[in-house]
Amino acid sequence: MGLSSTVIACRPFSQGHSAMTGGQVSGLCPKRRLAASVMLAALFTLGLIMANRITACGCSVPKGSKCQHEQQRQATRQKANDAARGTPAERGYDKDWWRLRAAFLKAHPTCCVCGAKATHVDHIKSVKEAPHLRLVPTNLRSMCGPCHSRRTARDQSQAWGRR
Ligand SMILES: [Zn+2]
Ligand SMILES: [Zn+2]
Repeated sequence: MGLSSTVIACRPFSQGHSAMTGGQVSGLCPKRRLAASVMLAALFTLGLIMANRITACGCSVPKGSKCQHEQQRQATRQKANDAARGTPAERGYDKDWWRLRAAFLKAHPTCCVCGAKATHVDHIKSVKEAPHLRLVPTNLRSMCGPCHSRRTARDQSQAWGRR
């Protein structure tokens, strides 16, 4: 009894609806207009999703940006790189070095090769070769920029030749 009364109660509405549709010559009835706009919105959303990039971890992000997992992975990689190479302080260029360097340049202001104004303090034996001589003044010499870069280039080519 309850069910049939529901069906009967529904019928006048649907009849009225189709009558209204038939009566309108141009355009859509409000209900269809709503359906059409919902469809458009759905298509628009779908378009946005399609424009997104699906990451390796399955996240959907706008093209050209990264999901939080990718950002995390990148940060981890960066940290690993830094650890492998070492910070400037870990490579032997710490506070003590910069203080000694400044004092050494003051005491030896000219390039040991060409006599120009020195701007670099060079380790005669490199920090890598002789870490214990890093802060020993007898292992240091003042150099100008051009002479220092020439020396660095020569060391590089020697290092390459050894391989
Ligand atoms: Zn992710
Ligand atoms: Zn020089």
